[in-house]
Amino acid sequence: MSNENKVSMEHTLDFLNKFYSNYNCVVCGSNDWTTSDNLYELRKFNFGEISVQNSAIIPIVPVMCKNCGNTHLVNAILAGAIESRTKIGVQNGDK
Ligand SMILES: [Zn+2]
Repeated sequence: MSNENKVSMEHTLDFLNKFYSNYNCVVCGSNDWTTSDNLYELRKFNFGEISVQNSAIIPIVPVMCKNCGNTHLVNAILAGAIESRTKIGVQNGDK
């Protein structure tokens, strides 16, 4: 992974503190959240075929409730974890 593609945990944690510090888990009511320094991706469903070409992806930061495991999927570009070169997964996003 080049520095150009480096994940910014600082920006991710700032984002999570902004939106999750006063947000209780809808499953168990806890306010104890954690995340991963690995990103994941969502791909367009393609009826069992894996298509890499022309397949838009949404980069994801998982946010997990430490009490019950309820997991939210947050767009990694909007969370500031990475910068988009192509704006994939972000509409009208001029971050
Ligand atoms: Zn929970």
